[in-house]
Amino acid sequence: MYSVPKLEDFSPAAIDAAAAELLAALRAEAETISGAKAFEEFRNRWMARKNGVLTQVNELWLKAAPGPAKREVGQRVNALKTQAEELVSLAAERASGSAQDERLRAEAVDVTLPGIERPLGVRHPVLRTLDELISVFVKMGYSIADGPEVESDYYNFEALNFPPNHPARDTQDTLFIAGQEERAQRDRLLLRTHTSPVQIRTMERITPPVRVICPGKVHRNDAPDATHSPVFHQLEGLCVDTGITFGDLKGTLDHAMKSLFGSAVKTSFRPSFFPFTEPSVEVSISCPFCGGRGCRPCKQSGWIELLGAGMVDPNVFGFVGYDPAKISGFAFGMGVERLTMMSYNVDDIQQFFYGDMRFLEQFA
Ligand SMILES: [Zn+2]
Repeated sequence: MYSVPKLEDFSPAAIDAAAAELLAALRAEAETISGAKAFEEFRNRWMARKNGVLTQVNELWLKAAPGPAKREVGQRVNALKTQAEELVSLAAERASGSAQDERLRAEAVDVTLPGIERPLGVRHPVLRTLDELISVFVKMGYSIADGPEVESDYYNFEALNFPPNHPARDTQDTLFIAGQEERAQRDRLLLRTHTSPVQIRTMERITPPVRVICPGKVHRNDAPDATHSPVFHQLEGLCVDTGITFGDLKGTLDHAMKSLFGSAVKTSFRPSFFPFTEPSVEVSISCPFCGGRGCRPCKQSGWIELLGAGMVDPNVFGFVGYDPAKISGFAFGMGVERLTMMSYNVDDIQQFFYGDMRFLEQFA
């Protein structure tokens, strides 16, 4: 590494020779600089006011020169400084250029790399089934009604004629919103356990005739297993008008099931109980997979239970201000996941909610 020599000879020729040596060393060092940090060290070594090489030149050459030689030496030292500064500023340009090169290299995009493949999305199988159901009933003149998922006890139970001690009101089955002990029972909020409150809200809003379907998400306090999920979807329907009979209920559901599963499908109605319908029925269809001979989906029975239905209980009409002496109606409901599991031969309801691409890809 270059260090400034002490001079004994201060003649112009000796100064010129020493200056040339210094510049050669500076030039050689400047050529090896790469990166901002190395340049900073280089510049300090040569240019620093305190003990930089050029400061030492001042001390050892100019100040040490005998009186008569000072003028000549001063001129040469000044010329040397100018040249040295030029060399340093050239090195500065090169160093900042190489920093930029480095940045460009780091940010470079390799256009030959394969791109990110974004798979095409499709409707979730549950929503696909829901869409099919909706389209069947829309074709029959039904419109779609919607309502809140957080409901009051009144709309979810009371107005639907649930007796005070009905097990569905128990926290075993219902997810109540916490911290409502101060409220009257009918005002307490819960996650709706069925889409039936939408029927009440619809009847409060419009006068008969009513033909609506209520598709949506419902919640139960159920531990998840192969056939239970705390969240699932229902589709309910409601038809209210003058002179609606049980025959209309049978005809409507028979037509809907034939639209969904083919005209060979038969329906069967068996007495049942729901608080909000009287009489109530469970509706089964003849197994669309085996035609009634018996197979796995129908558990060898030839029939599959799909819907609950019934004539709207007159008490329910009382809650919404309809006159049961003048009008009548029927309601029905089904679980969309259950229907989807059957349609696509899925044996675990949890598969619909995992978001596992290996499962969902099969529906693309
Ligand atoms: Zn079958």
